[in-house]
Amino acid sequence: MKDQVIIFDTTLRDGEQSPGASMNVAEKLRLATQLEKLGVDVIEAGFPAASPGDFEAVEAVSAKIKRARVAGLARTARGDIEKAWGAVQKAARPRIHTFIATSDFHLEHKLKMTRDQVVETTIEAVRYAKSLTDDVEFSAEDASRSDRDYLCRVFEAAITAGATTVNIPDTVGYAVPDEFGELVRYVRDHTPNIHQAVLSVHCHNDLGLATANTLAGVRAGVRQAEVTINGIGERAGNTSLEELVMSLHTRRSLLGVSTGINTREIYPASRLVSMITGIMVQPNKAIVGANAFAHEAGIHQDGILKHKMTYEIMEPETIGLEANRLILGKHSGRHAFRQRLADLGYELSKEELDRLFARFKELADKRKELHDEDIEALVAEEILRIPDIYRLLYLNVVSGTVAVPTATVKMTIEGREDQGAGFGVGPIDATFNTIAKMTGTRSKMLRFTVSAITGGMDAQGEVIVRLRENGLVALGKGTDTDIITASAKAYINGLNRLHYLRANPALTAQERSL
Ligand SMILES: [Zn+2]
Repeated sequence: MKDQVIIFDTTLRDGEQSPGASMNVAEKLRLATQLEKLGVDVIEAGFPAASPGDFEAVEAVSAKIKRARVAGLARTARGDIEKAWGAVQKAARPRIHTFIATSDFHLEHKLKMTRDQVVETTIEAVRYAKSLTDDVEFSAEDASRSDRDYLCRVFEAAITAGATTVNIPDTVGYAVPDEFGELVRYVRDHTPNIHQAVLSVHCHNDLGLATANTLAGVRAGVRQAEVTINGIGERAGNTSLEELVMSLHTRRSLLGVSTGINTREIYPASRLVSMITGIMVQPNKAIVGANAFAHEAGIHQDGILKHKMTYEIMEPETIGLEANRLILGKHSGRHAFRQRLADLGYELSKEELDRLFARFKELADKRKELHDEDIEALVAEEILRIPDIYRLLYLNVVSGTVAVPTATVKMTIEGREDQGAGFGVGPIDATFNTIAKMTGTRSKMLRFTVSAITGGMDAQGEVIVRLRENGLVALGKGTDTDIITASAKAYINGLNRLHYLRANPALTAQERSL
């Protein structure tokens, strides 16, 4: 185990803290399945005490995941730990992850506790968690700004009480690599029982240093890294799984450690996270950005042809970016369609498959070729986003150079069918006005973007909207060959997510930060 770094993925917990990234239970389950396929060692599925929706999602992920460990986050309060255990206890390999802040800054301003009290609380919490399960992780929130000797004292107490992993979070993304590596070394040298636990790091990217700090931690002896797919997370996000894993993979002769990750599942996982959360990857993002590989961008083509390693330190195939991916079309049968879905990781019931296949045929009539992106967008709209209170049934729009843009919309609102019509300055505006009137929403649209999900003139349009209502922010996504329909779907998806957020009031940023 010494030369392998445990990959602890927190896309479902810390990643979900990205503004607007809330996921429903079906979406979290789908993502958890892909994380297991990717080979992550630990899936942090959520914070069960944070909301009923979080509890339900952690419970569902625990029931489904067989190989990876499933962790539930909890503050040190007994009630939090009880809830975390309630949600993960059915997992094949459950973990309770408890945390408390250790910096004087947090002790004074947030916890209003003395150092001794925090040590006592840590011991009590870890002991209680240990009475429920063998696998207990303890995190010292804001560790990078804590007094080093005090941090070692808390870790020693946590390990004595039964913690099997202790984690050093750079909660506010303040550390720089040399200093952070030095902190890890200090903890290893000054915590007497440190060899009885796995040492972990959890870095934030406020200064763009999350991956560098995590690598510095690994160089200093850390053997668990906490990461998210695409680096999503609160503020500037977390250490990105793909950056860390590909650094360890590409520079393994220098770094001398490996991971259990199947790197060929990196790109499918990245795409899935973007599709589910609506948070797109910037084109120049390392590893998974659209321009990350030189041959993709058409740059240095000549050099590449002469010798592949001239400009490329990694091969796109290594991360699962295949040039010749299987394409489905109008003549693809039910069997080929089901097989492709299975390859992508979907296990669907017969009824779901029937419904999806009918939609696939409709789409294949409009387009010549359907890519994996199209298939996944179909699943997202037909299967994953089903527990919705608003659903689009029908849309007709009239616009042009002479007509006043008018939209007629039919939708279900909490199971009841309703129809409405309205005007606007353009067809999309008319559609949005009509939907807003029918749902009575008071949300404000902060952003509206349209892009094509694959290449080609007949590509499906993908619309993303960002909505805000009473301080809650939700992203909505919609895909269709018609961008007005895609816009309507995106708006409705955003309204559904706002509804979910209202029904599952989250803890404040301060209460859930780690
Ligand atoms: Zn965090």
